[in-house]
Amino acid sequence: MSLKFDIRPSANPTPEKEREAKLENPGFGRIFSDHMAIVRYTQGQGWHSARIESRANFPLDPAGAVLHYAQEIFEGLKAYRRDDGGVNLFRPDANARRFQNSAERMAMAKLPEDVFIEAVEQLVRIDRAWIPGGEGSLYLRPFMIASEVFLGVKPSAEYIFSVIASPVGSYFKGGPAPVSIWVSENYTRAAIGGTGAVKCGGNYAASLRAQAEAIDHGCDQVVFLDAIERRYIEELGGMNIFFVFDDGSMLTPPLGTILPGITRDSIIALMKDSGVRVREEAYSIDQWRKDAASGKLKEAFACGTAAVISPIGKVCSANGDFAISGGAAGPVAMGLRKKLVDIQYGRTNDPHNWIKKV
Ligand code: PMP
Repeated sequence: MSLKFDIRPSANPTPEKEREAKLENPGFGRIFSDHMAIVRYTQGQGWHSARIESRANFPLDPAGAVLHYAQEIFEGLKAYRRDDGGVNLFRPDANARRFQNSAERMAMAKLPEDVFIEAVEQLVRIDRAWIPGGEGSLYLRPFMIASEVFLGVKPSAEYIFSVIASPVGSYFKGGPAPVSIWVSENYTRAAIGGTGAVKCGGNYAASLRAQAEAIDHGCDQVVFLDAIERRYIEELGGMNIFFVFDDGSMLTPPLGTILPGITRDSIIALMKDSGVRVREEAYSIDQWRKDAASGKLKEAFACGTAAVISPIGKVCSANGDFAISGGAAGPVAMGLRKKLVDIQYGRTNDPHNWIKKV
């Protein structure tokens, strides 16, 4: 399926000086570009009214389904400015596929992959001046909300799909320095048969209390355990996790109740290229503590689109704290980070054809 986007450039875009000032130190997620993509769905009619237009409020009826039953999904990917001035997207097809899986699980209309990618590309094209140089990027946020005006628990008959864009610098304050994480023993994130493997807003609403607990304990991020035995590591609030051992082997928790991260998948592929098989196996918090103490564990790191790779320096829990390899950033994490970033910015070859030039 293909939809023709009606391109309506903003009549009063941000003046260049103001934009440049905003791009100097964009932070994360507070500054937005001038436009948005929008596509509507109506049962019986399908997808229609595809547009690129000025970023503006949505008119939303107070009885709009998303406001009551949280039928909402989203994605996150980035546009990178290459040294030659061109623009790269990293694996947008993977985001489009995951968006379809999320829609399926949430009983929402499935947006064709090519429409998802076209919306992202058109927005990047019109707002390319908003892509910061250097280590910055333009964070793209595709999302879909249930917009039918009806109070009743059933799949909505109408949806709004949109993409907005936010220029970003580094995700963590101070760049890729080691982060500390808090083990959530009071709250779980996802159960078998639940929505842990999809990117729906509800997952994040339910994670906020645990993240607040992490901050209260002086930690940067929270790590969740499985919902049955409450001992196997699942993932962080917004990142997957990897472990590196003294024999050079690596492990990451298996798919099922965690979000299938695109960075996670890319790391597994890059390690395989260099002859390292990453085991996708359950790993308990007790084993983690033991392996950190014995020195068998050399590194642990978190990964995701926003922060790429963040070494984990310290783990805190109600049962005490422990450091990993003295709390310093490890060579495997930092090497992988460089490899991924170099591919994303087009500074090296792209053996898996992950880059889509815009
Ligand atoms: N887990 C969760 C819960 C996330 O929100 C994210 C960010 N999308 C990730 C993992 C990492 O996924 P990706 O590498 O696709 O950004």
